[in-house]
Amino acid sequence: MAQAPSPTVPTDHILRVYNRAPLAFERGRGARLYTVDGEEYLDCLAGIATTGLGHAHPKVVQALKDQAEKLWHVSNIFRIPGQEALARKLTDATFADVVFFTNSGTEAVECALKTARKYHWANGQPERIDIFGFDGAFHGRSYAAVFAAGNPSYVEGFGPALPGYKTLPFGDLDAFKAAVGPDTCAIIVEPVQGEGGARALTPETLKAMRDHCTEHGVLVIYDEIQCGLGRTGKLFAHEWAEGAAPDIMCVAKALGDGFPVGACLATAEAAKGMTVGSHGSTYGGNPLAMAVGLAAFDELSKPETLENVRTIAGYFTQGLKGLQDRYPDVIADIRGKGLLIGVKLIPNNRDFMQLARDEKLLVAGGGDNCVRLLPSLLLTQDEAREAIEKLERACEAVRKKAAA
Ligand SMILES: *Cc1c(COP(=O)(O)O)cnc(C)c1O
Repeated sequence: MAQAPSPTVPTDHILRVYNRAPLAFERGRGARLYTVDGEEYLDCLAGIATTGLGHAHPKVVQALKDQAEKLWHVSNIFRIPGQEALARKLTDATFADVVFFTNSGTEAVECALKTARKYHWANGQPERIDIFGFDGAFHGRSYAAVFAAGNPSYVEGFGPALPGYKTLPFGDLDAFKAAVGPDTCAIIVEPVQGEGGARALTPETLKAMRDHCTEHGVLVIYDEIQCGLGRTGKLFAHEWAEGAAPDIMCVAKALGDGFPVGACLATAEAAKGMTVGSHGSTYGGNPLAMAVGLAAFDELSKPETLENVRTIAGYFTQGLKGLQDRYPDVIADIRGKGLLIGVKLIPNNRDFMQLARDEKLLVAGGGDNCVRLLPSLLLTQDEAREAIEKLERACEAVRKKAAA
């Protein structure tokens, strides 16, 4: 039997920026993951909403294999047909006219922030640099992304704040309207917060923010890296709000079903400052990433996939509300949208994640003492039932621990 990493021996030569669970997986299929010891887990975390089609989806695997035999990488100094094809699909499906491909969500955010600043500069208003983020947001770990989100623990110790970034309370329309002024460049917001604990803005709030920005010449950037690409039961989460399309949008995570690929989408107007030489990437949008992205996007955007998300989300919500009724001492709230589900707990969420793992169920942590369920968008009803049964046993275990 293969040697599992010891839970007590740290991974000595890995920079210790993660508090890792003592589990190492060797293979996956759909919503199942198998450890090096052959133990089976039900995966309701999906690499944090990244393997949106589950593990080793046959169409995506085939696309990767086929492309791997042909061509991996050239350079963005050449035309890349796969990019042109995926950009066409993304723009056909959204508000956007143009796409810049990246390797990660953070880079898509970086491109969005630069695009917004450059737009006002191109308009002869270089003083418009203020970008508003919202409490509980997560936009990635680059220097600009941490200041855009403003989470104090992610900016601490990294020197002076980047100028022009301000954090506003999430969902507070009055505070938002009061903050917008002549120097405001853009807002960046997750229509449904992921890391912040599956907090959704109401469609009314999103629409009101959009309208206020339009009125004041402020660009709207949506970070749909976690909540986009089918996760909420629509292709993009902002589609739940009528007439609230952004000017710029960041996607990543599920776009490659686990292969690193992201994208920054924009209207032609919002992107007008981004001229030849103003941005770039070595790997972004290379042929291998595009082949995988094309295959994944075709599956993610199918009406059947979105339908499944809505059905399974309804089933989950009902099951979880039942659990909340039976375990009010464990579960405080159920929230989120679609298959971005937050379970706000009374006991510590990290402890609960361990109890879930003891039941061979993987869930993600989240802000506000939540655990998040972010399973494959192709999860079946039987798998959802199994997840709820495992969560019920984890709730029982919380009670046993409390009584001990
Ligand atoms: C994961 C995530 C990011 C960062 O993406 P990376 O690929 O880790 O760089 C940004 N925003 C949101 C909402 C995310 O969930």
